[in-house]
Amino acid sequence: MRAAICYEAGSPLRVEELAIDEPGLGEVRVRIAACAICHSDIAYIKGLWGPIVPTVFGHEAAGVVEAVGAGTVDLTVGDPVLVTLIRSCGSCRSCGRGLPVLCDGGFRLNGESPLRHPDGRPVAQGLRTGGFAEQVTVHASQVVGLPAEMSLETASVVACAVLTGYGSVVHTAAVEPGSAVAVIGCGGVGLNAVQAARLGGADPVIAVDVAEPKLRAAERFGATRCVNSMGPDPVAAIRAMTGGAGVDYAVVTVGATAAVDLAFAITGAGGGVVLVGMPATGALAAFDPGTIANLNQRVLGSKMGTVRLERDVPAILELYRAGRWKLDELITGRYPLDAINEAIAAAQAPDSLRTLIVN
Ligand SMILES: [Zn+2]
Ligand SMILES: [Zn+2]
Repeated sequence: MRAAICYEAGSPLRVEELAIDEPGLGEVRVRIAACAICHSDIAYIKGLWGPIVPTVFGHEAAGVVEAVGAGTVDLTVGDPVLVTLIRSCGSCRSCGRGLPVLCDGGFRLNGESPLRHPDGRPVAQGLRTGGFAEQVTVHASQVVGLPAEMSLETASVVACAVLTGYGSVVHTAAVEPGSAVAVIGCGGVGLNAVQAARLGGADPVIAVDVAEPKLRAAERFGATRCVNSMGPDPVAAIRAMTGGAGVDYAVVTVGATAAVDLAFAITGAGGGVVLVGMPATGALAAFDPGTIANLNQRVLGSKMGTVRLERDVPAILELYRAGRWKLDELITGRYPLDAINEAIAAAQAPDSLRTLIVN
């Protein structure tokens, strides 16, 4: 099968023929129909999170089950599925606490990539998926069945951006109706945090970004107010929108420490700062612990929106089916695998939301 390999940080990916394992115990192989490009893929490709060994990235995918390994009971060849990076065992301490995103169970694929060059040289499976490819072999816990009528291209964006944005608001923060919510960063994750906040009855829902096209998109996804953080005094502007009190939740979806600083500056008494985006390894943010204590604030980390696939994917798809959740509107470009470098460039344009690789 063909896959796009990253050999060196910052260099173009190369589409080459790779061998892929047959699915082993509890695993499944999926023929990929669409894989969206996430900013996490781009951060890895740029080397922000560490050195690169030859790796296939891509982790926001949907496709059709092509082979099932022994012990994979819930899936059948031909099933349409969402493919995510959330690999969970169901029996470790984190899984037992309802936190499969933190699973530390043992899996063959944790130590052994299913990908290699035809001559045997290893290629890493990036983000536990390797979705910029024609096929993936993943653990069965990483996939969720989709309704037969669902477009696989539309579904693909759910796997990371939608789940993370939705979960950060619904589960990590558990935003109450009437809360004032600011979402800092209005890319794929941020727009879905905006959608979730609005649907959950937050008011105002304040979209914050440096790019005007992203703010216009946020309005379409339910933001009631918009603030360009490159403007003269974004803190004063956001505080003015909440009668001076500050927001109840500031959801930071970008991996920039300036966005974290802004979140602390706009969060009011009793409020929570929700950290979703991950800055480059080693980047630090400063905060005033006295203020946080005195204002009874919370700082909440949100890995993949604290989601549980079997609960949250059906919930989101039902909202979509009922016309209450936008998915198609997130897709702003489609490219074949051979054009992956053009697709990655397009994904970084200010007016792009989600760019898909389609097979
Ligand atoms: Zn992602
Ligand atoms: Zn586990």
